[in-house]
Amino acid sequence: MTVASTAAHASTLEDYSGVLGSAEIAELRALAARLEGRSTQMVNSTAVGGGVAEMLNRIVPLMRELGIETRWDVMTGGEDFFAVTKAFHNALHGEDFQMSDDAFDTFLRYSEENRARLRFDTDFAVIHDPQPAALIDARSDRQTAWVWRCHIDLSRPNQKVWNFLEPFVNRYDGAIFSSPAFARRLRVPQYLFFPSIDPLSEKNRELEPSFVATTLERFHIDPRRPIVTQISRFDRLKDPIGVVRAYQIVKRYSDCQLVLAGGGADDDPEANVVLEEVGEAAGKDGDIHILNLPPWSPLEINALQRGSTVIIQKSLREGFGLTVTEGLWKKKPVVASAVGGIPAQVIHKHTGLLVHSVEGTAYQVRFLLSNPAIAQRLGEAGHQHVREHFLITSSVRRFLTLFLHFLKNGQ
Ligand code: UDP
Repeated sequence: MTVASTAAHASTLEDYSGVLGSAEIAELRALAARLEGRSTQMVNSTAVGGGVAEMLNRIVPLMRELGIETRWDVMTGGEDFFAVTKAFHNALHGEDFQMSDDAFDTFLRYSEENRARLRFDTDFAVIHDPQPAALIDARSDRQTAWVWRCHIDLSRPNQKVWNFLEPFVNRYDGAIFSSPAFARRLRVPQYLFFPSIDPLSEKNRELEPSFVATTLERFHIDPRRPIVTQISRFDRLKDPIGVVRAYQIVKRYSDCQLVLAGGGADDDPEANVVLEEVGEAAGKDGDIHILNLPPWSPLEINALQRGSTVIIQKSLREGFGLTVTEGLWKKKPVVASAVGGIPAQVIHKHTGLLVHSVEGTAYQVRFLLSNPAIAQRLGEAGHQHVREHFLITSSVRRFLTLFLHFLKNGQ
């Protein structure tokens, strides 16, 4: 299926100039002018849900507004295809691959169906993640470049699945990863693109202070006392119990409340177990607020982040950590584990504080609660850092420069 324009709120480039300044937008227009008459196709496997669809929902309309004809196609498949690609996804993250070799045939069969169904005639094609990777067989010589945009951590993949995918990846003109640590040794050039957030989305836009206050009230959180928050799915890798332990240490010395907010516990049995464990660890402390949010709650998340004194992200493993980006954008002091993409965002003692343990987390939260001027400085620097590197407009600029690079190379 081709996705027309799914954005409910259609922010224009002009709206972004209100946030970023007009020079930034003029730069995008100048780059795009050099691509006049060129066309692009984005392909992924879902139009809604998940970070990739969220980013494409903004990048595609912005590219179009910049005058580059951009098509967004979604790969289709039956349940059997998505069962295979889910198993691939887990295996590429290092888990065992339990399926029989039929899985590879299923993957190839749906790839072929989609190759026959979709049109591939743009100058550039950007294929997102492993699901559509085998579409590369449809590349024609008239096209300028096909790039594979990998959003997942490929540093320790299951070898069997990777051996199957690698020959497809090596036929692209380049591969894009979200962190140097996620990349593989490949025969094609590799590029680093950071994920990004939309400053005008419901999750990140400015909110009326009264809305923030009402949201805190709704969740029975006291706005007059410090609020320490971690927003995350209830998943062990996000270490919510470690967060409770850190809070309990802080609480011996400073008054504060803890908010642990996340969703997914209704349809994910494991999340439910984690939620129960967190409840047990919290005990009867009325200052710990465990919020099981509905899956789509961007305004609530925005308000909780904005109402917080300190944002924590104490993950044991992490992809990029968009909750960190969101906290920094809201000028909050962030205390976060030095894992995955977090150190690219949190530069220790400059844009936030990096930690490696429960005790370290407690120490840094206490430090921030008793040094509000430093906390504010970190938050301001964090906001600037996100503005420069992790906004949706940076992703658009990155694509434009990559396309220009391919044109220059005469590919
Ligand atoms: N998020 C959400 N609801 C929740 C928990 C998280 O919408 O209950 C959002 C959060 O604001 C962020 C994204 O989901 O935008 C999580 O991305 P991140 O990279 O932090 O972690 P992931 O869940 O992808 O491991």
